[in-house]
Amino acid sequence: MRDSLFIDGRWTAPAKGGTFPVIDPATAQIIHRAPAGTASDVDAAVRAARTAFDAGTWPRLTGAERGRYLRAMGAEILARRDELARLEVLDNGKPLPEAEWDLADAAACFDFYAEQAEGLDATPAEPIVVPDARFTSKAVREPIGVVGAIVPWNYPLLMAAWKVAPALAAGCTLVLKPSELTPLTALELGAIAQKVGLPAGVLNIVSGTGAEAGQPLCDHAAVDKLAFTGSVPTGMKVMGAAARDIKKVTLELGGKSPFLVFDDADLEQAIEWIMFGIFWNQGEVCSATSRVLVQQNLYERLLQRLVLEANRIRIGSGLEKGTLLGPIVSKGQFDKVLAAIATARSEGAVVAAGGEAVAELAPGYFVKPTILIDVPLNSQAWTEEIFGPVVCVRSFKAEAEAVRVANDSRFGLAAAVMSADYERAERVAAALRAGIVWINCSQPTFVQAPWGGYKQSGIGRELGRWGLDNYLETKQITRFSDKEPWGWYLK
Ligand code: NAD
Repeated sequence: MRDSLFIDGRWTAPAKGGTFPVIDPATAQIIHRAPAGTASDVDAAVRAARTAFDAGTWPRLTGAERGRYLRAMGAEILARRDELARLEVLDNGKPLPEAEWDLADAAACFDFYAEQAEGLDATPAEPIVVPDARFTSKAVREPIGVVGAIVPWNYPLLMAAWKVAPALAAGCTLVLKPSELTPLTALELGAIAQKVGLPAGVLNIVSGTGAEAGQPLCDHAAVDKLAFTGSVPTGMKVMGAAARDIKKVTLELGGKSPFLVFDDADLEQAIEWIMFGIFWNQGEVCSATSRVLVQQNLYERLLQRLVLEANRIRIGSGLEKGTLLGPIVSKGQFDKVLAAIATARSEGAVVAAGGEAVAELAPGYFVKPTILIDVPLNSQAWTEEIFGPVVCVRSFKAEAEAVRVANDSRFGLAAAVMSADYERAERVAAALRAGIVWINCSQPTFVQAPWGGYKQSGIGRELGRWGLDNYLETKQITRFSDKEPWGWYLK
């Protein structure tokens, strides 16, 4: 576990010497004190990234050359997978097999963007046909510059990879600010950068709080682009800071994603995917399908089985074999989830399963898998993200009603639909106002496919070729090729 920041290729003590506690949420014990970066550390990191971009080799390498570094970083993540996965469990709480999966996904993300970097060499310029034979024109793509990347705590290394890999592939340099709740694996990316010989200043990592490290990064005049994943209120601050000097900005924010289950759906499949959609990663998933709408004929049967299966989920430390639900990431988030359940009750919702902390596992921050029914449509439980293992289940009669209720949200990150009738599933998928729609499943995420939200769930798309575009500027180069004079002033 690191006790320094990674700036300009070196491990550097934070300027003010501060630290913040890293807490294992399964035991509530402090396991480490991480380095707390502040504005002067952010400034040093941004300057290093600026120099590496303006005067260094990185943006001037070929895509294939950058791709080699990316592949090496992916390979190093895989080589350290077991150790990094255990760190992730200690820091975040998630079950070990989930952490191992995250690490494999992070490595695959570096491999995918290595390929994308190589692809940039194959299409160095796009010829543009202009309607005047005296001119030739082409469009080229260039890295945006210095990126400030700010990530949350739910998939600590994977969310960092979603930004670091495409930004490096594009030829940008970065300052990465991990969440103060989960800094451990992101700091290890510094060691990985060193191991593969990434040029100094290309990737800088400053752990610290949102106020003391995140905000100065957003405010820094030498940053060209902000790439943020986190909550809507923080996203507003990031966008506000970006507005002051028109920094480019992409936002991946929260959600309250619906899951529509029609009465021709297979019950077993529906139960499996509803549970995967809300209990995986303790429900701390931006795209969690936390509003489940079940067609009337299936509702009672489905609810009964869902309650039974939710109560059977094995809860415990993420390091214990067989655990399917770990602790909530922090005391603050644990209190928020319990407060949201209390509010739901006061608003008229009925708790059909869970609804409380796991007393036997205190002081760890464990919350039972929770099912809320009779949740009023205008209540907070139905409309606001809870970011814990809490699902609201309602019934509906007709397709149009289900689509209307599903779309009645200020969020639009993801949605899911389950039906044996593929035509209907496709029709509903088209009608849902969300950036990601799953048919007959919930949550599977592929690095090749675009990821991001409609409405207040964000701006822009990560992953796939769209993820690379986030870090590229487009430049037109137009040449006057005529031997004749232009002849406007000089006749
Ligand atoms: P958060 O907004 O509290 O924090 C996110 C990051 O922003 C952290 O690193 C934090 O330190 C930093 N931050 C806080 N204040 C800041 C400020 N003033 N300026 C700059 N940075 C600041 O979110 P969280 O609690 O870490 O994560 C949970 C949220 O993230 C949920 O809303 C979830 O839906 C969202 N999320 C979205 C996606 C997605 O892809 N759409 C993925 C994961 C999480």
